Amino acid sequence: MQGQMMTRPLSIIDILTFARDAFGGTEIVSARVEGDIHRQTYAETHARVAGLARGLVKLGVAPGDRIATLAWNGHRHLELYYAISGIGAVCHTLNPRLPADQMRYIIDHAEDEILFLDPTFVPLIENIRDQLPGSLRFVIMAGADNLPENSLNAPAYEDILEGGGDFDWPEFDENTASGLCYTSGTTGVPKGTLYSHRSTVLHAMMAGVSFQNCLNPRSKVLPVVPLFHVNAWGLPHAAPLTGAGIVFPGPNLDGASLWNLMDSEKVWSAWGVPTVWTNLLAEIRKRGGKPAGFGDVVIGGSAAPRGMIEEFENMGVSVCHAWGMTEMSPIGTQGALPPPLADLPLSERIDLKVKQGRRTFGVEMKIVDGDGNGLPHDGVSAGELHVRGNCVASGYFRNPEAGEKAIDAEGWFATGDIASIDDRGFLAIADRAKDMIKSGGEWISSLEIEDAVLAHPSIAQCAVIAVPHEKWGERPLLVAVCPGDRPSKREIIDFIAPKFAKWQLPDDVVFADELPLTATGKVSKLTLRRVHGGHVQPDA
Ligand code: ADP
Repeated sequence: MQGQMMTRPLSIIDILTFARDAFGGTEIVSARVEGDIHRQTYAETHARVAGLARGLVKLGVAPGDRIATLAWNGHRHLELYYAISGIGAVCHTLNPRLPADQMRYIIDHAEDEILFLDPTFVPLIENIRDQLPGSLRFVIMAGADNLPENSLNAPAYEDILEGGGDFDWPEFDENTASGLCYTSGTTGVPKGTLYSHRSTVLHAMMAGVSFQNCLNPRSKVLPVVPLFHVNAWGLPHAAPLTGAGIVFPGPNLDGASLWNLMDSEKVWSAWGVPTVWTNLLAEIRKRGGKPAGFGDVVIGGSAAPRGMIEEFENMGVSVCHAWGMTEMSPIGTQGALPPPLADLPLSERIDLKVKQGRRTFGVEMKIVDGDGNGLPHDGVSAGELHVRGNCVASGYFRNPEAGEKAIDAEGWFATGDIASIDDRGFLAIADRAKDMIKSGGEWISSLEIEDAVLAHPSIAQCAVIAVPHEKWGERPLLVAVCPGDRPSKREIIDFIAPKFAKWQLPDDVVFADELPLTATGKVSKLTLRRVHGGHVQPDA
């Protein structure tokens, strides 16, 4: 028997219309490329998005067209998210940190019609203009008075906005494509995840209920995580839906700029990858205090080190460790501790927070061995993590082979992460499969060693990578960044030795001034393996 309830298509613009009606006075604050602090309410944002939608139609944008963005976190970028999807086109976010050849490949592959770019990125695009499709048009995200000189024949964003009021938003199937984001192509060519209205609205609702401590009408949230990659972890949709205010940091993501902005805007919850928080914590130490109003941080994208979690918790900032990936819209887990776990002693809570949290509603997870057999959720058995759900990719854009490889007949998506799940449901990521170190037939988790090393007070950053070894296949090498006094190699290894079996310890330590980062701000182990692949280790 079927239920007798209406079926209305889920639509992204409804989120912003709802925010206008329910939280119309709540502000979006943007530290802009222009250098100013811009403020507008959700109601004003909705009106500007309507004007932008009219402008897009006037530019000839049709349903299904891919419209690219190359921009920092700011109100115009958010407006594009809503206006492009609202008229049935696809908002394709480009990551400016990608190498030029990948950027060209992605624009070509997506067949973008128009590229909206921040003034900052004009030189970057001018440099590769002659290798981009001749039909690609440009709009510069600025007012006419701030339009930089350029050879792109590009109008100013503010000039294409057509009046205020509302727009007659078209109605379409909820499975219509709404957004496109490519992985950073660290293995093979970049692959596109094509989100839909349905997946995006469901993801916003799921994030809203999962992150109630950060996303609510009393909260101001700072997405340091970029709008140009994985939908800024869903915040552009989840914040308006839950009535949280947004503070966009623009291009300046160093510790001092973030501290100042968070302090003056009284940001409650800040979201980003660990490398960003390393810099913010250094600034907090320097100034002797955290920004006013700061009480919550969401850390994901790569593992949050124990020392970082402890430092935040000790200053009264609650850490929520989250895990996800582009293909999951991206949130998969969150690490909030409900009672009675919230009442555990601090050290036990930190033991739990070091893990990557528990699944969010709508995400199914299992871990499997090399033959695809399910492994027990006992906190010890480790295997590849497979996921399934309404916000998980069912394939890759114009790349059926890659989709077939990643998704099995029962619809499980293979994440490429090696993990365990404990009997309370907490996920612990041991490594990306490609970063695990296989020594003498046994696996060594680079993340576990890194976490232990980072507890050493002299070490600011580190990475453990596999180096080929004649006898053992691979052996771990530690690359460490020590801004002050440099401890001896022996001292570092002795420091972590109690936590590991002898064969798991790195054979050598290499010191570096800094670690190379990927386009998504994570430590690039691929680059480190290239640089140190020939390193001759002392005998294991
Ligand atoms: P990219 O590879 O471009 O950075 P993603 O942002 O989609 O793309 O990265 C997803 C991957 O990041 C996951 O598969 C996992 O390996 C890693 N990751 C994400 N969050 C965490 C976390 N909290 N701890 C450890 N690894 C994480």
